[in-house]
Amino acid sequence: MSGGVTVRVPAKVNVQLAVGGARADGFHDLANVFLAVSLYDEVTVTPSPDRPYLTCSGPYAEQVPLDSTNLAARAAEALASRYGIDPAARNVHIHIAKDIPVAGGMAGGSADGAAALLACDALWGTGASRTELLGICAELGSDVPFSLVGGAALGTGRGEKLTDLEVGGTGFHWVFATADGGLSTPAVFREFDRLTPQAPAPEASPALLEALRSGDAEALAVTLTHSNDLQPAALSLRPALAETLEAGVAAGALAGLVSGSGPTTAFLAADAGAAEKVAEALRDSGTCRSARAATSPAPGARVL
Ligand code: ATP
Repeated sequence: MSGGVTVRVPAKVNVQLAVGGARADGFHDLANVFLAVSLYDEVTVTPSPDRPYLTCSGPYAEQVPLDSTNLAARAAEALASRYGIDPAARNVHIHIAKDIPVAGGMAGGSADGAAALLACDALWGTGASRTELLGICAELGSDVPFSLVGGAALGTGRGEKLTDLEVGGTGFHWVFATADGGLSTPAVFREFDRLTPQAPAPEASPALLEALRSGDAEALAVTLTHSNDLQPAALSLRPALAETLEAGVAAGALAGLVSGSGPTTAFLAADAGAAEKVAEALRDSGTCRSARAATSPAPGARVL
């Protein structure tokens, strides 16, 4: 692929997702503690002679839309419009090597949006500042700015206003169990609204932030119970996820929770060895489609 730019971008897990009531604009105020994890998509942008087009490879490729609704295509278009990129130069081939589960609450689409933005920025040499890129990310979606910065951050507003967070120690070990079929994020929020007519204002948990700062997995595990306000809604729409959560904890995970809006479930493990054991037990349990170990925090979108 001569003349192409490849960007690697991580998935995320929400260690806390505190959700307020629906706002007048339909969004919810959030206190969203993001951790980037070491499951990555790679997005390559290459000049195309005649037309823009998208391709995707990897285990989840058939679930990815290859039209203008794809967040990678929307990111390229948004950057081109903002910086007046010549129509001929806008003809790019975007290839997504997808390893982040689709519609799994791990911000895979947002990750590809951030990656395509950074790749096109490098290809076209727009000279956009980090702040300008983050602004375009926020317009593309609430989770897109975090995909660009990675690491650990608190997202407020609808999740797009980010404050960096410190993670101590050597980081955390996770297992992610994917489920058959996705869950629509808007549908999970609608179920949240139905189950929680009077949601209090969302606030980050001081104990959870302290556990991150100290890198203490056992202390973090204690704070993960009830840290995801969307979990009851995801379980209501997909009751079988309770069995996956039970299987992971029975296999030795320190804690298990639904990742974001689900249906991926996330398990915190004491160390790399424990994570491998939990992943194997989950694969054998028949309660999930696949289970993979990963670490956090991971770096944000990077040109390779
Ligand atoms: P989040 O955690 O941000 O709520 P998610 O991980 O649950 O998101 P995504 O993988 O981003 O979900 O996919 C949600 C939907 O977005 C998909 O069903 C798909 O139709 C659409 N989509 C658009 N662009 C992409 C992309 N690049 N990769 C995957 N899905 C995409």
